[in-house]
Amino acid sequence: MADTALMTIPGLSDPVPAARDITPRADGRIDLLGLPRTRICELFAAAGLDAKAAKLRAKQVFHWLYHRGVTDFDSMTDIAKAMRPWLATRFVIGRPEIVEAQHSTDGTRKWLLRTADGHDYEMVFIPDETRGTLCVSSQVGCTLNCTFCHTGTMKLVRNLTPGEIVGQVMLARDALGEWPKSGANLSANPRAGGDLRQDGATPTKAPALAGAHDLADDDDDDDDFHYTADGRLLTNIVMMGMGEPLYNFDHVRDALMLVMDGDGLALSKRRITLSTSGVVPMMARCGAEIGVNLAVSLHGVRKDVRDELVPLNKKYGLEDLLQACADYPGASNARRITFEYVMIKGKNDSDDDARELVRLLKAYNLPAKVNLIPFNPWPGSGYECSDPDRIRRFSNIVFEGGISAPVRTPRGRDIDAACGQLKTAAEKKSRAQRDREAAAAAAV
Ligand code: SAH
Ligand code: SF4
Repeated sequence: MADTALMTIPGLSDPVPAARDITPRADGRIDLLGLPRTRICELFAAAGLDAKAAKLRAKQVFHWLYHRGVTDFDSMTDIAKAMRPWLATRFVIGRPEIVEAQHSTDGTRKWLLRTADGHDYEMVFIPDETRGTLCVSSQVGCTLNCTFCHTGTMKLVRNLTPGEIVGQVMLARDALGEWPKSGANLSANPRAGGDLRQDGATPTKAPALAGAHDLADDDDDDDDFHYTADGRLLTNIVMMGMGEPLYNFDHVRDALMLVMDGDGLALSKRRITLSTSGVVPMMARCGAEIGVNLAVSLHGVRKDVRDELVPLNKKYGLEDLLQACADYPGASNARRITFEYVMIKGKNDSDDDARELVRLLKAYNLPAKVNLIPFNPWPGSGYECSDPDRIRRFSNIVFEGGISAPVRTPRGRDIDAACGQLKTAAEKKSRAQRDREAAAAAAV
């Protein structure tokens, strides 16, 4: 089992375990998953390649790794045959271990994953008529202890590495059979290898992959395939799984860079949304350095209510949070900020709350949409979901205020895959520990 170094998460006094970005395996080989092109190049040079060869091999391996989903150096057909065993004895391309895969009656899928050092985390795939969304985790557990969220009750917390984050997207592509294949396979069946296709539909647009792949040694890979949403199952990514992504900023950024890289997973930043509970100091950097869509877990429009539901509010209050949203780079009417609002009976669901929500969003002139999430219950939460009539009324008031406020249909409740239900079997925090962490998060 690999060891884990300690690091401090802002807002907390106790260090939490966080894996190093490169953890050699027991056999000494280095896992390239999660590394950028430049780092792969450095490692190849350190292993003995000259600068030119290291650069070329890094470019080739990067493409096979992230664009083609290949995990075996022997399949990298444009790399000289003699070179492949050299790579395979020093490096490996891994995947997070799958402990369990579950399928909901509504088509939602959840995977329980395990890190090399034995920590469990989850990812969820939610297909609907027009898109397929992968809900990606950024941490094992969460230190923020929002009172309505099951993830916050997990005792064990560590930041996930870039490899463990991007690895979720790659696993989903594996499971969905969505890697481009070589020319022959692709024209025969673009989805060869997929085990999920339920509707029998074929992609509306054939990928532009030219004929048979050139097998000559050292030829640059010349396919000009680029992902589009057309006919694909996995079209969107939301950083809404376990954890607070802005408390693991560097790793989340590095992973999303690989997801957005045109020669990597090549997903548009417009199809990626990062959700934060309101880590105000990191929001500007999120916009500037990652540039994805922003979602904010609001849940309360009055200090006392939001202090209870999202204890981080005691540290970064509503005014600071909404100002940071107003300043978020790239937000516009075409790219609105999503405000998530979990509907809890008798807590935050009154007509007055709805009117105050509209007033606040307007006061800050925010290009906003509101997602109303019916509270997903979990044992011992102490909260109930608002009645459907109440949710409808709340939605109407916000809508009449000029702000779109759809009610999100809960998905995957039967396999505990819905918002806030993600929690692995890790030991539960004591009430005292939750209170301590919430207080530490709130300490200025
Ligand atoms: N930590 C980040 C990312 C996780 S997103 C954040 O909080 O934004 C998880 C989303 O599910 C958040 O909007 C969260 O508020 C919501 N959620 C948590 N528990 C829930 C529950 N029991 N029912 C419905 N939504 C919940
Ligand atoms: Fe953490 Fe988000 Fe859950 Fe709050 S809602 S405990 S920030 S995962």
